[in-house]
Amino acid sequence: MGNKEETVVERLSSLVSDASEYLSYLSELGVKGLEDAAHSLQPEVAKSEHVRATAGKQNVPEAAPSNAALQRNAQASARIESPPQSAPPSTPQTGVAQPSKEQKVMAKRTTKKYPDAEPPPPQETLFGEIKPADEESLPRRDETLEDIWNDIGECMRCPLCCQGRTHIVNSEGNRKARLLFVGEAPGADEDASGRPFVGRAGQLLNKIIEAIGLKREDVMIGNVNRCRPPQNRQPTSDEAKTCKPFLLREIAVIRPDVIVVLGNTAMKNLLDTKEGITRLRGNFQDYKGIKVMPTFHPAYLLRDPTKKREAWEDMKKVRDYLDGKIKL
Ligand code: URA
Repeated sequence: MGNKEETVVERLSSLVSDASEYLSYLSELGVKGLEDAAHSLQPEVAKSEHVRATAGKQNVPEAAPSNAALQRNAQASARIESPPQSAPPSTPQTGVAQPSKEQKVMAKRTTKKYPDAEPPPPQETLFGEIKPADEESLPRRDETLEDIWNDIGECMRCPLCCQGRTHIVNSEGNRKARLLFVGEAPGADEDASGRPFVGRAGQLLNKIIEAIGLKREDVMIGNVNRCRPPQNRQPTSDEAKTCKPFLLREIAVIRPDVIVVLGNTAMKNLLDTKEGITRLRGNFQDYKGIKVMPTFHPAYLLRDPTKKREAWEDMKKVRDYLDGKIKL
């Protein structure tokens, strides 16, 4: 087969694979009526992979031995830490769904297409070695997450302390996570359990995380505000300003590669911007050298499921960046 034909085969194979992945994601997130289409693409995916394999493309990134993302997940899972001390020990581990067959297929495919990036070598330039941006702009803090949570204590720094709060909801997850999700503030379920994103929006967030080949335990999840505002109202800007420094301290300790800000309020507060989510979503922003991807809040996606397509586009960019597929 000539070079041109091989490129076409490769491109077609990739398109079929992307289409199948997209359909799986949408049906996983509850967009109805796509299951048949997703299943009908499975043989096409297998066929196109076979054609590609037999086209002599030994150098196309291939499957099994370099199962890099799965290895990364396994390593990340091995590093998983217990939930924060402030979460009641009796809290059931709700919201951690087992990956479905579709998700496993998708995780495998993701692994195959986007092998882990090697850390970039130090760059020798006319000006010498260039340091990673975050070393310069996000100073390391000599403290642990426990130090921060102890500091928060039984916080009474803003009015949310005393308007029906049951639990302060600290961030939860993998302390060495490459990916941090930041929401607005706890809702009723989070206030009751002391854990972030465990209600309906949290269930959807779990699916979003799994759709990019990760597990909830691999990532860190937090909020700008740690106390539930009464009637789930938006936190005031004073309340956000009071609580945000704790999140920023956590970020400086965890040092994720990407922060996904969920919804308008979280985005505006973290990025100090007046721009709205509709304008900024899908475009990587910067927080002190860390890539920030604004996307819709899962609660909004539950209200308007048609927006899941855009959220999926955003999350694919996050996945591709983490997998070293796109450089920024
Ligand atoms: N919505 C949020 O913004 N955060 C949570 O923890 C739960 C719902």
